[in-house]
Amino acid sequence: MITEPTSKYLSNTVQSIQPSGIRRFFDLASSMENVISLGVGEPDFVTPWNVIEASYHSLEQGYTAYTANAGLFELRKEISRYMKRRFGVTYSAEDEMVVTVGASQAIDIALRAVLNPGEEVIVVEPSFVSYAPTVTLAGGIPVPVNTYSEDDFKLQPEQIEAAITDKTKVLMLCSPNNPTGTVLSKGDLERIAEVVEKHDLLVISDEIYAELTYDEPYTSFPAVKNMRDRTILISGFSKAFAMTGWRLGFACGPKAILQAMLKIHQYTMMCAPTMAQHAALEALVNGQKDVVKMKESYRQRRSLVIHALEEMGLSCHVPGGAFYVFPSIEKTGLSSEEFAEQLLMKEQVAVVPGSVFGKSGEGHVRCSYATSVQKLEEAMRRIDRFLQTL
Ligand code: PMP
Repeated sequence: MITEPTSKYLSNTVQSIQPSGIRRFFDLASSMENVISLGVGEPDFVTPWNVIEASYHSLEQGYTAYTANAGLFELRKEISRYMKRRFGVTYSAEDEMVVTVGASQAIDIALRAVLNPGEEVIVVEPSFVSYAPTVTLAGGIPVPVNTYSEDDFKLQPEQIEAAITDKTKVLMLCSPNNPTGTVLSKGDLERIAEVVEKHDLLVISDEIYAELTYDEPYTSFPAVKNMRDRTILISGFSKAFAMTGWRLGFACGPKAILQAMLKIHQYTMMCAPTMAQHAALEALVNGQKDVVKMKESYRQRRSLVIHALEEMGLSCHVPGGAFYVFPSIEKTGLSSEEFAEQLLMKEQVAVVPGSVFGKSGEGHVRCSYATSVQKLEEAMRRIDRFLQTL
């Protein structure tokens, strides 16, 4: 709780949420030298050149004004084609889509568009750190459901049933998951869909890592039978297209909900950055080959890291997607926070303690493998050396 004199002006809601636990480690790591960071959740690639160039050209041509609130119509049409081509789901570019400032804003306006005060949102943990706070900020109540390494961090349908109350409105899904890398298969999603339908839930499906899956064909939740009109699909350009700094994402879904989201967007954001929208258009039209290349590189690095961690005796389920591994550190006897702090101090390797992602994240740390092979190899040597000292 902030106790400066001006804190009396703060809302109770904002005071009830905590700053992100990841930040503290970044701040600590950035004050030290020779640190290898496996902490950040973003690609190590620079955005492909043709995408950067498309943005330059748009500026040269004078496209410096606002776009339509929902985003450039050309971009929305391309997103519509992309969703159909890649995931087999059809959305109208006219009224079932909003281009947003990252997937982050899409999540925010989705929650604000659907929640009444006190309504509950099931958040599958370990989870991306923004879900619970954004639910709270939207007036809702986050209800954590824990998943465990024994189940490969897969949500079991009966866990949803057990968490449901008469206030439950939304289930938040994230596949591939941050931080576990778990991908839900078509069968997993179909079993979840049965419960969703039975209890008349709405799903917010964060599929920002959908392009980065390594083992099985990917199934998008709205592509599951009867789920399209119960799902707000969240995605964006940050991960697959290496565009985190461009701040561009999108949401697709049933017209009534997307138009409500657009209402919030037009009053609070106006539109996503115009030059980034031109870049995104190029990414969708000509970027798939780069996505494939980057994905292959992540796949190789995934093998390197899993193999090295297993050799050290840190057991690790094989993450089917994203660019994270989430090994168990239980055998060290340290909490995830102690592990991350001591590893940083002794060997200058930054990882994220699993506890910041929810209760069932404890006993694990998140390592991002979106960094160079050379740095990964050195980080693995350092972690090994650290383990020997325990
Ligand atoms: N969802 C998940 C699961 C993420 O990991 C992230 C980024 N770490 C986001 C959403 C936000 O992405 P964006 O950069 O598009 O806001």
